[in-house]
Amino acid sequence: MGVESFAGALFSGIHVRLTRVTEAVEGLVVAAVACGPPPRCPGCRSQASRVHSSYERGLAGLPVNGRSLTVRLRVRRFFCDRGRCPRRTFVEQVAQLSERYRRSSLGLKQWQHAVAVELGGRPGQRLCRRLRLRVGRTRLLSLLTKPALPERAPRVLGVDDFAFRKGKRYGTLLVDVESGRVVDVLSDRESDTFAAWLAEHPGAEIICRDRATAYSKAVKEAAPDVLEVADRWHLLQNLGAAVEKTCHQHRSCLRKHTEEETEVPVTATVTITELPPADLPRTQILERTGQRHADVHRLVNADWTISAIARRLHLDRKTVRRFRDTDLDILLASARDRRPTGVLAPFKAYATTRFTDTGGSVTAPQVLAEIRAQGYRGSVQAIRKHFAALRDGTAEPVRADIPSPRRNSA
Ligand SMILES: [Zn+2]
Repeated sequence: MGVESFAGALFSGIHVRLTRVTEAVEGLVVAAVACGPPPRCPGCRSQASRVHSSYERGLAGLPVNGRSLTVRLRVRRFFCDRGRCPRRTFVEQVAQLSERYRRSSLGLKQWQHAVAVELGGRPGQRLCRRLRLRVGRTRLLSLLTKPALPERAPRVLGVDDFAFRKGKRYGTLLVDVESGRVVDVLSDRESDTFAAWLAEHPGAEIICRDRATAYSKAVKEAAPDVLEVADRWHLLQNLGAAVEKTCHQHRSCLRKHTEEETEVPVTATVTITELPPADLPRTQILERTGQRHADVHRLVNADWTISAIARRLHLDRKTVRRFRDTDLDILLASARDRRPTGVLAPFKAYATTRFTDTGGSVTAPQVLAEIRAQGYRGSVQAIRKHFAALRDGTAEPVRADIPSPRRNSA
């Protein structure tokens, strides 16, 4: 390819004349001379006509075929002949190629800007290295300019907090609800900050907010005529929480109901309620959590010491403290999320039935073989232990799963 057609491809529509292409270790080096018409003085806009001098400046261009490109661009310095203009001379800029003080071509800058918008600093820097665009992360970030802020608030303004760092520092996000665009970001979630913003940006007719009092206070102060709306997400969340709380309070009714529905005949040897094995251990854990919470609080209210409670309830002192200091709802939620303990748990009901049906004569290895076929992966020891507990009458009763409040409220 001749130098002329190469120049056409590289600098199409740009007023430069390409003089030489050399291959260096670091990539392609292209020498070019600015050849546009004499420019206007940036100070007084008058047309220049006399060349003062010329010099060469280096510009990093867009990589060509995976190789970096350097443009050695010869530009002219012109006299400004207008007497009153403070500028005596100035250097020309080549449209679509060079900018004052900038050492990368305009095309390269546009690429870097696009990378910075999509990826930000460090990831952008890594991608640029792969693409052979020489740029550091500070430079990438400096290319990002703040979008223009509207003078007025949008008609429907959404306001909510967000975490800079969860539990530590929060800010406020303002959104144009109708267009779905972010309008502004405030550095905290204080009432005064939001009120000041509202005062500076009038125009909102409806404000969508959560139930935090800070925002509502700001609206009352700074925009009392605006219609306040609780946003849908927070309404649903609050409704869910209310239903869950109500269900917690009526847990005993739910249990009674479940047991009535699943009444089963009692076998002769051991009194067992035989029920499907689904989710049994979770229910037991929840029940135990509730009881433990009640026990701990009863003793705390009776002025027992932590150590005394720990001894009485056979608990670790740390556990006692946790039950004393944590909300029942939170304890139940964490108990609910815990995975069932013991691999035998899902097969316990079956093992129990086999034990009672045979009057305790079935052996652990027999049951092991049977439940292995159903997917049991545990040891024969666990079954032996369960049978021993059944013989002693110390086995935990197998009960129906009570619908969890969370499930009810879902
Ligand atoms: Zn001038």
